[in-house]
Amino acid sequence: MYAEKKGTLRLREEFEQYLNDKYGDVDVCGNKYPAGSVLLRYDSAAFDNLFDAELDNIPQWLCGACGNEFDTSEKANNCCLKGT
Ligand SMILES: [Zn+2]
Repeated sequence: MYAEKKGTLRLREEFEQYLNDKYGDVDVCGNKYPAGSVLLRYDSAAFDNLFDAELDNIPQWLCGACGNEFDTSEKANNCCLKGT
């Protein structure tokens, strides 16, 4: 089997969601907004700094057959190896 690397754009979207889940909503002038989305739009440089720091912790490889996510290309390559 083969492995595919995830696009950075998709990783960024997932990281935004990760921050939203981790930090929840923030209160801005009486309105609630998801924290990751606020950071991305208000201070994208700070968002990118966090993103770079966390990039190693985000699964970046997909099994080309089933789409399962892995942190190394080797694991993704071995995912559907059995039975093929
Ligand atoms: Zn697989």
